Amino acid sequence: MAANQPFNAILIERSGDANVASLKQLMEADLPDRAVLVEVRYSSLNYKDGLALSGMGIARRLPMVGGIDLVGRVLDGGDSEFREGEWVLANGWGLSELHWGGYSQWQRLDPQWLIRVPGGLTPFDCMAIGTAGYTAMLCVMELEDHGLRPGDGEVIVTGAGGGVGSVAVTVLARLGYRVAASTGREDTRPYLEALGADKIIDRGELSAPGKPFQRERWAGAVDCVGGATLANLLAQMRYGASVAACGLAGGSELPATVLPFILRGVRLLGVDSVMAPREKRQIAWKRLATELDTERLKRIARLEPMSKLQQLAPRIVAGEIRGRIVIDVNA
Ligand code: NDP
Repeated sequence: MAANQPFNAILIERSGDANVASLKQLMEADLPDRAVLVEVRYSSLNYKDGLALSGMGIARRLPMVGGIDLVGRVLDGGDSEFREGEWVLANGWGLSELHWGGYSQWQRLDPQWLIRVPGGLTPFDCMAIGTAGYTAMLCVMELEDHGLRPGDGEVIVTGAGGGVGSVAVTVLARLGYRVAASTGREDTRPYLEALGADKIIDRGELSAPGKPFQRERWAGAVDCVGGATLANLLAQMRYGASVAACGLAGGSELPATVLPFILRGVRLLGVDSVMAPREKRQIAWKRLATELDTERLKRIARLEPMSKLQQLAPRIVAGEIRGRIVIDVNA
């Protein structure tokens, strides 16, 4: 696409008392004044994107270009470290909240938000991983930093059929952990087993309010769900074990007691991908490039055109999307 040509973007705007997303045409001059101009190749659909596109208040400035993820080629690096033609990716940093994001054929970005695409990953792989997969790796890194090792026992992943969950199952299995995958969808069983899950747990076993202190089961946990599920996990962790909590697909409250913390030394580790420091991101992406089985990643992700985003958004909010959706911003 040449300069001074219109290009497509998903713009979230105020209409009456609602935020409404629609496909619009923009010009380069409409883009924010940031140093690096990127020709976006792919973005992705995350739970948070689903909320933003459904008008649920994620965008804190309007009008806003949606998309918390992007991968693309540098067209103009300005005076930054990035050169024309380099492939770069961005996740979080307030994209689609405070800053214009990846649902756009062109975007201007701050160089501090960008990471070079690690060797071994294609641009498609990068968005098949996306914020969800990179968050899954941050969770695994937190658990390992707090002592988890393969052979310690079963590690449970909740919301396993979703984006974060699918990548967490895949990464943990590849690293040699025994993985229990908790899902509310019986039909995801073969999929999760193919990703490396040893055991499938019905979501219902964890979602009802439980006793504050239960049988010790898990050596580690990645929780995408929150609410009563997280409270039950805490009550079921082995002595000294950790839960990496990153999600709220089942609710933002935490109806738990302090008993697991003070009687079993259980640790609750918060994981945030949006403002994670660049060095940590680089480690996470390097590990994803070397430790994630890209054949399994192909089972997790599928490609959809940007023009279909509005149809897909309510489905991810409702928990109906399996794995990851890569968005082709040129279609
Ligand atoms: P997805 O929608 O892809 O996955 C969420 C999964 O949670 C669903 O697939 C479903 O899995 C399960 N789920 C949905 N609704 C419920 C419910 N009511 N009760 C129990 N389980 C439910 O989203 P993502 O994987 O992209 O994100 C998962 C969570 O992590 C979200 O809350 C998101 O906001 C958060 N997140 C946080 C980040 C951070 O930086 N901390 C970064 C990225 C995501 P199944 O059908 O298998 O049960």
